[in-house]
Amino acid sequence: MSAHTGSPSYGFETRQIHAGEINDAETTARVTPIYQTAGYRFSSFDDGEERFAGASSRRAYSRNDNPTNIVAAKRIADLEGGVDAVLVGSGQAAIAVTLFALAQTGDHILATTNLYEGTREMFRTSLARQGLSVEYVPADAPAEVWHSKVTERTRAIYTETIPNPLGDVVDIAALADIAHATGVPLVVDSTVATPYLCRPIEWGADIVIHSTSKWLAGHGSVIGGAVIDGGTFDWAANADRFPHLTTSPRPGVGSAVERFGAGAYLGFLRTVTILEYGPTVPPTSTFLLLQGIETLSLRMERHVDNALAVAREFEGHPALRQIHYPGLESSPYYPLTRKYLPQGAGSIVSFDLAGGRDAARVFIDALDLVTPMTHIGDVRSLAIHLGSTIHAKLTEEERLAVGITPGLVRLSIGIESAGDIIADLGHALDAVSAAGY
Ligand SMILES: *Cc1c(COP(=O)(O)O)cnc(C)c1O
Repeated sequence: MSAHTGSPSYGFETRQIHAGEINDAETTARVTPIYQTAGYRFSSFDDGEERFAGASSRRAYSRNDNPTNIVAAKRIADLEGGVDAVLVGSGQAAIAVTLFALAQTGDHILATTNLYEGTREMFRTSLARQGLSVEYVPADAPAEVWHSKVTERTRAIYTETIPNPLGDVVDIAALADIAHATGVPLVVDSTVATPYLCRPIEWGADIVIHSTSKWLAGHGSVIGGAVIDGGTFDWAANADRFPHLTTSPRPGVGSAVERFGAGAYLGFLRTVTILEYGPTVPPTSTFLLLQGIETLSLRMERHVDNALAVAREFEGHPALRQIHYPGLESSPYYPLTRKYLPQGAGSIVSFDLAGGRDAARVFIDALDLVTPMTHIGDVRSLAIHLGSTIHAKLTEEERLAVGITPGLVRLSIGIESAGDIIADLGHALDAVSAAGY
């Protein structure tokens, strides 16, 4: 098999179809096959030893090295402008392994306050039990505040490009400056933006995370995650914080920095963290992911057009206290949207119903085309009341502290005919008004 990597001279639309593809010389299959195999035959005793030593470019085992998964990882790395990437079994797994490969017990992560609740739950529960502390700082806090929070145990600043569900777009370049001035990498979960709308590495991020279950796949039929290494962070210059990347693990073996160069972090992630924890994604899922990525740009154009049409249509509707969509000119995040998301502000639109939870019940139950469901980034339009589902484990006070008001309904706007989506949402809002909310 020979590798064809995407040429940087090709446009995004070309690379989403071709980057990372392999030419299977034996079968000449044009579409990347599902390499449904656990292992790879050793040609000899010495070949086995070399593969295990990582001295050979030939693979040993599919837990961390499967050709279908490698093609999709290289494609996503190419689209994000990173040096390399890995795929794992879910977005949650991607977040967990990213931090496991940066931090250990007693270490500290600084995060922006408003994040996807699954991430906050992991930070609050499982990572806390592993002895990792996460401290939240409002994304727009002055640089001095961020600087004052960094300790010698801080290992990363963590944020999202378009935080789910409020769309309070983050100033990535400003956070990158703070991170680099203090000697830690900036980690960005860019699931809601996708590499088509924003590439955080171009703005200074060092590590990018995706739930590939969302827009990258787009069809809502697989769960997966990806971690992309920008190759930008200087681990050797910050060796006191990251000795696991800069020192030799055992005699005769070089450090991750020596072995993998600019891709030191990703090399460690793949050959140690993922090899040992094993959060592997099945190549069958990755095959479906690849079918989705091929049409990412086309789908995103429709997603953002439809989301903007919905937000504009219902802005000021009497049943709504507020619409959260950073692509609206009235949004406080509109200036950051123009800077970071010139091709569109994503397709999460959140409705804050003035009548609170009871109004949300009427709204959800009146929907016909739009599916009540947890998930985002599907070609289908979806809706969910947050306080009773994703944020149900929090107290009312905790919910309000992160902007989850009683009437908040998150919409993931799909790629159906805009008029049909608007008609369905309009009729559900009419039902809310008719019920007296
Ligand atoms: C869904 C989501 C995740 C988790 O991804 P899964 O694939 O569902 O595990 C992480 N981050 C964001 C922003 C998400 O929307």
